[in-house]
Amino acid sequence: MDTLRHLTPDELLSGLGVRRVLAFAAHPDDLDFGAAATMAALAERGAEITLCLLTAGDAGGFSPDEDREGVPARRAAEQREAAELLGIPEVVLLDERDGFVEPTHDLIRSIVRLMRRCRPDVVVSTHPERAWERLQKAHPDHLACGEAVVRACYPAVENPFAYPELLSEEGLEAYRVPHLLLMTAPQERHNTWVSVAGYESTKVDALRRHLSQHPDPGQMERFVLEQMRASAADADRRGAQRSPHVPDDAPAEAFHLVTVNGQGTFAGF
Ligand SMILES: [Zn+2]
Repeated sequence: MDTLRHLTPDELLSGLGVRRVLAFAAHPDDLDFGAAATMAALAERGAEITLCLLTAGDAGGFSPDEDREGVPARRAAEQREAAELLGIPEVVLLDERDGFVEPTHDLIRSIVRLMRRCRPDVVVSTHPERAWERLQKAHPDHLACGEAVVRACYPAVENPFAYPELLSEEGLEAYRVPHLLLMTAPQERHNTWVSVAGYESTKVDALRRHLSQHPDPGQMERFVLEQMRASAADADRRGAQRSPHVPDDAPAEAFHLVTVNGQGTFAGF
């Protein structure tokens, strides 16, 4: 059985040997809801983070009066501001349509291309499984993004004969992804909680950059802070091994951590 761990950002960084992180999300604000505090903590400790958005969130917003044509550009700009605040210098935008994301081979090829270019130690993504306890985090695009990223991680990115044009035309060599860190997981899949004391306001500030998405920013802020407290309490309830360096009452972000390639993994089965 998996060991459940509740650790600090320093322990996550050294435990996984994190230098480069590549994060995938279906929509602007997904990474900020799921992992903004952890990303800010890792960036502050020197991790290089790239964010890839599959869509510009063109179906988002809440006002019927809004100029729909301007939505993608506005949301992409909001995400770039939020990312900058977290210490993420690069946001790559793919051109999937909001609400229509599927794990197609075209999308998987684009994801493999970016993985081979960035060669990350950790790939972050939304989870491919549906969380029944809160269906809002299991938007079909989040599931499709998770599925495409997981399929890209194994086997496509590490197989030189998958999408061979990436090698022959772009010189992108096969690469083995060490770790996947999945957000929006069904609660029973959580196995890693990152203590994010001191980064709560950074997370809220990043989410506030997505102005076009929050009719009630105060309610959003209360929800996010409560969710981080509930995650820390859930780690205790599930009996996670708590690092002595995790402060009492510190909020947490919860993940499903998967080792794709490590000691004990064997290609082919
Ligand atoms: Zn989303």
